[in-house]
Amino acid sequence: MAKVLVIAEHDGAKLNSGTAKVLACCGELSADAIDVLVAGNGDGLDAVCAQAAALSGVSRVLKNARAENAAPLAAMLAPQVVDLAGDYDYVLGPSTTFGKDLMPRVAALLGLPAVSDIMSVLGPRQFERPIYAGNAILTVNVPDGVKVVGTVRVASYKAVGEQSPAPVEAVASGAELPAHTRFVELRSGAKDRPDLQSATKVVSGGRGVGSGENFRLIFELADKLGAAAGASRAAVDAGFVPNDMQVGQTGKVVAPELYIAVGISGAIQHLAGIKDAGTIVAVNKDPDAPIFEVADIGLVADLFEAVPALVKALP
Ligand SMILES: Cc1cc2nc3c(=O)[nH]c(=O)nc-3n(C[C@H](O)[C@H](O)[C@H](O)COP(=O)(O)OP(=O)(O)OC[C@H]3O[C@@H](n4cnc5c(N)ncnc54)[C@H](O)[C@@H]3O)c2cc1C
Repeated sequence: MAKVLVIAEHDGAKLNSGTAKVLACCGELSADAIDVLVAGNGDGLDAVCAQAAALSGVSRVLKNARAENAAPLAAMLAPQVVDLAGDYDYVLGPSTTFGKDLMPRVAALLGLPAVSDIMSVLGPRQFERPIYAGNAILTVNVPDGVKVVGTVRVASYKAVGEQSPAPVEAVASGAELPAHTRFVELRSGAKDRPDLQSATKVVSGGRGVGSGENFRLIFELADKLGAAAGASRAAVDAGFVPNDMQVGQTGKVVAPELYIAVGISGAIQHLAGIKDAGTIVAVNKDPDAPIFEVADIGLVADLFEAVPALVKALP
């Protein structure tokens, strides 16, 4: 009787699509029950629970409303997850910033190793995960009788579909919460573009874009396409754009249907973040740039001419 607990990621009103991808991985575990834990507080929590309950494969949604959960702080959530993890065989979250922050803490509190970035399930206790920027695949074996705690690589799974809603039950964790961490404020950039990790289209700029001011070209193209905007690490390190836009080994892993790389050379650390992209389009003035080795469509051109022309040509 394998039981799975999935930790939902949400913003207080809307479930992040990563949760539906974790459920796709759970589908490979031959689990008898898959419960989704929705921790939060506030008016939007019921809507989040309803969205989770409608996802295919979910047996129950566990609603954990608590004032301290109003902001998703890993330090606060981890002891509650541990408290509620009881007899579950698997406790899984998405390999997003949220999951990468939370799940290792849960594993550490349980005294277990974390299984990170599960990209496929070979058996009930055997998983594959990428290492060395995706250039090698590691097989991870978890001993029998040990709870599997970890993250699922969301770029490796397609979101599950819908079902008639599963029941939603209120749960309460009496876990003692740490006093060392508290929510102060959230400052976030403009939210008028899709989220990078769940977007179906992404336009990224690299060092070739030249400056933060020039990045408006990337934003214009992204907006025309309804795409998220990303960047290479060189563009982030040069201060053109904030680091939450970074795509790659030490940034975000994306899996859009369309990825447009503008003024990006195609270093392996950048490619590690776009391995699961559908169609890759590259605009680069250097015909020998390594990005052209992975691009499905390559345009050897000066981006300052090509991008405005593309923006103009698009409806
Ligand atoms: C441990 C480690 C982790 C890393 N993690 C990441 C990561 O997560 N993400 C990441 O991106 N990098 C990462 N890097 C850095 C990576 O190695 C590269 O340095 C970086 O990706 C280069 O960024 P870039 O392609 O924008 O810049 P460059 O390599 O400088 O390439 C710029 C490109 O722009 C082109 N160009 C210039 N002007 C124009 C123009 N006018 N029109 C068209 N094309 C033009 C050039 O031909 C060139 O190909 C990491 C490195 C290390 C060591």
